[in-house]
Amino acid sequence: MKDFGVILCKQIYEQFVIKVAQKPASLPYWRRMYSTLDENKIWEKWKIKGNSVEADDHDFRLRHNKIFTNVILHQLDRGVGRECDVCGLEAEDLVHMYVKCAELCEFFKMLKCCLTEKLGLVWNNRDSWEIFVLFGVWKESRVKNIELYRFLLSHARWAIKSRRNIAHFENKLIPVWSIFKSMVQTQIKYRMICGNVSIKKLFTKDSSLFSYQQGGEIVWHW
Ligand SMILES: [Zn+2]
Repeated sequence: MKDFGVILCKQIYEQFVIKVAQKPASLPYWRRMYSTLDENKIWEKWKIKGNSVEADDHDFRLRHNKIFTNVILHQLDRGVGRECDVCGLEAEDLVHMYVKCAELCEFFKMLKCCLTEKLGLVWNNRDSWEIFVLFGVWKESRVKNIELYRFLLSHARWAIKSRRNIAHFENKLIPVWSIFKSMVQTQIKYRMICGNVSIKKLFTKDSSLFSYQQGGEIVWHW
């Protein structure tokens, strides 16, 4: 047995990962939904620099399949319908809520256009848009500003959920694009005013989505 004094901290962590840490319970679900997805990628670099706490928390719950969709709510309370509150056409499971809902088509067109034009995203038609929206792509060379792109996708998911919540709780239908734009503008403005130099650089590098004027004004180029 090794003398405790010569055991490295790294070795303790390695043993901890092998013997104690468990794989997320959501992995079989994602494997079932997307056979081409390498589920380990879901957790690779998922932490986004400068992200909003709310968007981060939302992403964490989404990856863990811990979102209360109408399909799940219906199992708990038969009084809640299984149908999507936004389109009313299909049952609202996780994949429907975030990617399959017919009412997301327009938003996805605008989002793809924005990422391509403003951040230089190179889109390959063999890529899965659903996997892209849910988890992002992982080839950093395919987009000019990887951090801003991750930030935007995270807020896109949060905007989709927020629009759904407004439909569910207030019975109102609001375009996702307007919620998304408002969220992004508020969060980036906050970072430009209060953020440190590295955060400001991070969000302005190689992107034509907005420009930051010397007087502190932000001009948006949606
Ligand atoms: Zn729907």
